[in-house]
Amino acid sequence: MSAYDAIIVGAATTGSWFAHALAARGHSVLLIDRADEEHIGTKYDIYHVSKRDLDRFGLPLPVKGEDWAFEFDEGENRSALDRYPKRSREHIVGMHMHPHVLRLNRWAAEAGAELVYGASFRGLEFDEAGKICGVRYEKDGQTVTARAGLVADCSGIPSVVRTALPEGYGVETFPIGPENMFYVNLRYVRFHDPKDYIRGQCSWAYYKTWRAPQPDPAGAILGVGANFSHEYADEVYGHFAKAVKLPAHTVERIERGVTPYRRPPYSMVADGFIAMGDAACLTKPTCGEGVASSLVQAEVAVDVMDGLLRAGKPLSRANLWPVNKRYVEAQGREFASQMAIVSEAAATSPAENDFLFEHDIVFNEKTLQAMAEGKELKLSPGEIARIGGCMALGVVTGKVRLKTIRRLLKALADGGRISSVYADYPDSPEGFDAWARRADRAWASCGSMAEAARAAEEEFGK
Ligand SMILES: Cc1cc2nc3c(=O)[nH]c(=O)nc-3n(C[C@H](O)[C@H](O)[C@H](O)COP(=O)(O)OP(=O)(O)OC[C@H]3O[C@@H](n4cnc5c(N)ncnc54)[C@H](O)[C@@H]3O)c2cc1C
Repeated sequence: MSAYDAIIVGAATTGSWFAHALAARGHSVLLIDRADEEHIGTKYDIYHVSKRDLDRFGLPLPVKGEDWAFEFDEGENRSALDRYPKRSREHIVGMHMHPHVLRLNRWAAEAGAELVYGASFRGLEFDEAGKICGVRYEKDGQTVTARAGLVADCSGIPSVVRTALPEGYGVETFPIGPENMFYVNLRYVRFHDPKDYIRGQCSWAYYKTWRAPQPDPAGAILGVGANFSHEYADEVYGHFAKAVKLPAHTVERIERGVTPYRRPPYSMVADGFIAMGDAACLTKPTCGEGVASSLVQAEVAVDVMDGLLRAGKPLSRANLWPVNKRYVEAQGREFASQMAIVSEAAATSPAENDFLFEHDIVFNEKTLQAMAEGKELKLSPGEIARIGGCMALGVVTGKVRLKTIRRLLKALADGGRISSVYADYPDSPEGFDAWARRADRAWASCGSMAEAARAAEEEFGK
């Protein structure tokens, strides 16, 4: 039985990046994935990461003819009535996931990580003190036990390690269920008329739909994300296709996938354990993307672990705690606040959404550019006053209902409250239980995206 500094369960984007970073710093890493080499990274085909994030995290770049698919800079957002386009610019690289994940696997292995495909996590191993000290996994019908100072759950939505933690071990064990996911349907289409060929991406936030390039320059990916089920996502797509006139096209294939939409566990670390990536719900609240946002936490985790391993200190909950604190400061607080706002603000009518676009309320080029660049959304007092004036005009002219104003104000107030709770995230495990109770109360007063979707469905048949 070998002993490693870390065992990483799940060798897709998060697990491979983390394995590479630890191994490159000289630590011993076992990286396992239940998929075999032919199937790893095949949950869907194309994914996008900005060039800015590829560079920031030092990710290997895709190569033309292998994993590279396309690149583009132009982004556009349109209202529910397909009007008032708002433009943004960000250099985006589209990649084929399977060959790119294989590239990341090789990159991790070249740095020294031991990689085992076709190895399914079966359970955790505990020492005499009841602390995690390794895993059992199944490979070719054999059960193998491996020991490590830390087990990282990078298994994505199934969260196989986190959900296997004993109750009270220190990290929440919730499964990521249908209420906590976005069901994403991607239509790979081909346009009939060359004048309709696209160069960039366009989103319709109201329907959570978008049109993005695909490797075929005559084609596009028409995507939709919705709560509850893939069937429900198709219904929403139907409303979208009625409201927005799409160019004549043929659907060549449809891909379906799911992405987490829920707050992350309050603590992501415990004795000898860390939850990462989709298994820790680190996706962006504004669009459900999670490749780069997961690496923000992974980067902090590598730094903290490297320091502990070099100092010969145990990877205990207390010693790993700075991962929580530094992640909240780097991204978690902002994402939590955005999640509170986006969830509740979703229940507007198409005409109200159109009004918001017309008057640059939230949907303006400055905010959308900040979102495209992954920056914090900040409103100046002058901007808040302007929004207040426009909304009053909307009510007086009958374009916006008072109910919607109340909902938006509540969403902003909830976002502010969540932000101040996360600003007080404890520096150490002491005080965490009291903080978690406070955070529970704040989240309980916020609506969820699923509730907003139900409200919109009842009111507007959206
Ligand atoms: C349709 C769709 C499109 C998306 N597009 C984008 C995009 O363009 N850009 C972006 O940033 N994000 C995108 N996302 C989100 C993004 O895909 C995820 O956030 C990201 O892939 C999460 O990576 P991960 O490594 O944490 O988990 P995963 O990619 O889910 O990897 C988990 C790995 O764990 C392995 N595993 C699972 N169970 C076990 C087990 N029992 N034992 C061993 N191994 C196990 C799996 O085989 C898998 O390889 C999209 C999501 C969907 C659904």
